[in-house]
Amino acid sequence: MYEIGHFIDGKRVKGTSGRFGDIFNPATGEVQGRVAMASPGEVEQAIARAAAAQPAWGAMNPQRRARVMMEMVRLLNRDMDKLAEALSREHGKTLPDARGDVQRGLEVIEFSIGAPHLLKGEFTDGAGPGIDMYSMRQPLGVVGIIMPFNFPAMMPLWHLGPCLASGNAAVYKPSERDPSVAMMLAELFIEAGLPEGVFQVVNGDKEAVDTLLDSDVIQGISFVGSTPVAKYIYARATASGKRAQCFGGAKNHMIVMPDADIDQAADALVGAGYGAAGERCMAVSVAVPVGDETADRLIEALIPRIEKLKVAPYTAGEDVDYGPVVTREAQERILGLINKGVEEGAKLVVDNRDFKLQGYENGFFVGPHLFDHVTPDMEIYKTEIFGPVLSTVRAGSYEEALKLAMDHEYGNGTAIFTRDGDTARDFAHRVNIGMVGINVPIPVPLAYHSFGGWKKSMFGDLNQHGPDGFRFYTRTKTVTSRWPSGLKEGGEFHFKAMD
Ligand code: NAD
Repeated sequence: MYEIGHFIDGKRVKGTSGRFGDIFNPATGEVQGRVAMASPGEVEQAIARAAAAQPAWGAMNPQRRARVMMEMVRLLNRDMDKLAEALSREHGKTLPDARGDVQRGLEVIEFSIGAPHLLKGEFTDGAGPGIDMYSMRQPLGVVGIIMPFNFPAMMPLWHLGPCLASGNAAVYKPSERDPSVAMMLAELFIEAGLPEGVFQVVNGDKEAVDTLLDSDVIQGISFVGSTPVAKYIYARATASGKRAQCFGGAKNHMIVMPDADIDQAADALVGAGYGAAGERCMAVSVAVPVGDETADRLIEALIPRIEKLKVAPYTAGEDVDYGPVVTREAQERILGLINKGVEEGAKLVVDNRDFKLQGYENGFFVGPHLFDHVTPDMEIYKTEIFGPVLSTVRAGSYEEALKLAMDHEYGNGTAIFTRDGDTARDFAHRVNIGMVGINVPIPVPLAYHSFGGWKKSMFGDLNQHGPDGFRFYTRTKTVTSRWPSGLKEGGEFHFKAMD
């Protein structure tokens, strides 16, 4: 048993609220630790200390801040295996997946080394007689960051890179399900040279989050999690005038055209649908084959692949396909939705409802499931299941498949598998979804592009990492300056001169 508190002013501190949450080992179902739930007072103290540390950090020249990011990249590489092990122990994902989690986060820290370039402003020489105009990007101040359980390294690093490199201080509230990695990242930032107090971690639940949302000191909120919470956070943060970007849930469709390479499409669907037990916001949860013949071929190709999946704890080796889901509630919710799908008349062509792993009977494992003949009115189609369940909705034509993806309330990611360039191009242009893959099942943009969905998958406007990340964490200030020599030629300065 271990205890996770908070990380304030450069060190781990114990929680003082007296409230704790259990940290489970999802593979065994046992409680392995506990995490302190911060009180409003503890969160306010963390914010105040961050506010005290921010001005000096914000005033430091950007290349010095970039050097901290550079060192952080080295340290993340050095500690990759340690971070991955801690991550898998609390989250349940496989070790290769956990290393990928750290790697994709690290890449945004790497991108943030470019802060001196990314923060450069604009300059107009001679906007009028003796008049110059320039704009600069300044940090917001103290930012609140609230993240989900499913990528405990990648998600915070996507935000901390641009946030800290821009000169902000951050108060980070990780998911209470897997808080260890956050504490390790905080220690690494200190080792990398980040001044104490610039990055604080407060663990907790809604009480801690609401304190961040209502604080007068916090200037911006970055949230990633489920849609109902994203919507709530966006409304509450913006009500008090904060800048907010809130990323929500997903239901990602993959359209399989009759001309697609079916083996390639089936391999892609198995990886994207069942990898990480389906606990990814970019997981493909709906396959949309166009035409019954395509559908039959696809289902036939999928079944043997799904039956071969190795579901086991991360400790069982590098060849494990996926591990347990995060909590018992998640496990029960997923199985409940599968039963609901059967009741509603969908055809469960791969049924593992009685899945039990010998020696891990109390673990939160869910076997892989495949539905065929799902229709848009069914609960399993409308809801984000966030588990190893793939639904097949058969479409009669390309237009019908496109409309299906477009009519869904979520708009995070989507993909099309086809050999036809015209169809692929048409799809990319017309679909109302933020991230599109063409023969790529999980089109996650790399660090130097921005990541974000449309519709109910995102509240706010600026996306995560890439150029948008730096835009979100900075405010533009524009200065107009006039020096006396400009007056000599035109006499009295007047604004007309700038027309
Ligand atoms: P969640 O919404 O339950 O929790 C996210 C964070 O919000 C956690 O830190 C949690 O403590 C906090 N929280 C939960 N309920 C709250 C409340 N009522 N008030 C204030 N704070 C609250 O999400 P989760 O289960 O941790 O993560 C899974 C979800 O995240 C999925 O829906 C997934 O699609 C989504 N997700 C989205 C993206 C994206 O970029 N769009 C990326 C990763 C995950």
